Amino acid sequence: MYHLFGCTRRRCIKTVGVLPILLVLVLVVWSYYAYVFIFCPQIYTTSPLQAASYLLLCHAFLVPFAWSYYLVVVTSPGHPLQMDETTPACETVIDIPLSDGLRRDVSSSSLDNGPPPLAHMYANEAAVPLTRSNDRGYEDVALGSAEVAHGIAGNRSLEVKSDGKRRYCNKCANWKPDRTHHCSVCGICVLKLDHHCPWLNNCVGFYNYKFFFLFILYGVLYCLFLFVTLALNIGNFNDFLMGIGTMGFQPTFILIVSGVFALCLLIFLGVHLHLVLSNKSTIESMEGDRRVRLPDGSIGTAPSGNLYDLGTRQNLVQVFGKRWQLWLVPVHSSIGDGHHFPYNRNVYRNLLAEA
Ligand SMILES: [Zn+2]
Ligand SMILES: [Zn+2]
Repeated sequence: MYHLFGCTRRRCIKTVGVLPILLVLVLVVWSYYAYVFIFCPQIYTTSPLQAASYLLLCHAFLVPFAWSYYLVVVTSPGHPLQMDETTPACETVIDIPLSDGLRRDVSSSSLDNGPPPLAHMYANEAAVPLTRSNDRGYEDVALGSAEVAHGIAGNRSLEVKSDGKRRYCNKCANWKPDRTHHCSVCGICVLKLDHHCPWLNNCVGFYNYKFFFLFILYGVLYCLFLFVTLALNIGNFNDFLMGIGTMGFQPTFILIVSGVFALCLLIFLGVHLHLVLSNKSTIESMEGDRRVRLPDGSIGTAPSGNLYDLGTRQNLVQVFGKRWQLWLVPVHSSIGDGHHFPYNRNVYRNLLAEA
């Protein structure tokens, strides 16, 4: 059923998807109220200094946590094209065979420089109208049939389909840049798609992945802080089991909830730390081998996941940026534009050697 009360299926999902966000907001506001307005005043009566330090640290973790969460929810993960919903989807995939001239151009390129940019490949094609390109080299409007036939939608593409042709999304009727995948929930291709997160009602992709990581990181710190400080002042354990404790019901409830969330988020943080350090998205960590276009027109098969592994430090830089001072600050500092990615030259050379 694609229409319900005049809504498209995608809009209905997006509307209902607001509920998990409201749940997160309720839990965060409730935890803040119980901690700051109930628990801290209790501590203040016996130790004002301790209460002040608790208040200070609580805000030090909560502010970047809430800031990151806000940004990851409202920031678009990035799309190859900002598709208009009224644009009819193209049903036909047009394959692009390389002409003899292009093959000569490709085979004469330096292997050490990796795959040649498509813009260079097509530079000798006088008939190709390089129109309406934005600064990424991608068309920022729907492609015309002539443009599609000449394959000038992108200026550099490494990954190809199993048959050696450029990756193309039938649903979006557009080329898929490297590491782009289609989100079935959002109904659109997403640059470097990691996953669709119901807690965010948004995809996690190239432009909001850093915010997502910091949201988990500060979420762990905030929940751990609440759990540890509340647990240190729990009083009689039997009273705690009865749900009243010396702190009252609400701080006791927040103690349990923060402990559960701290454990879940800690596991999630470990998984994503591993992914960041190896420069993989969640989807890529589950994918099989990836097909890579080689300069001679043949296809190489790269082992899953390590094509973009640049080493630990460079992998961190790709997500968090070159300035380490901004790594833990929820501002966009990731490297690149989400369309083109540096790749591991050794993996690529091995593919050339095997070809
Ligand atoms: Zn798509
Ligand atoms: Zn999505």
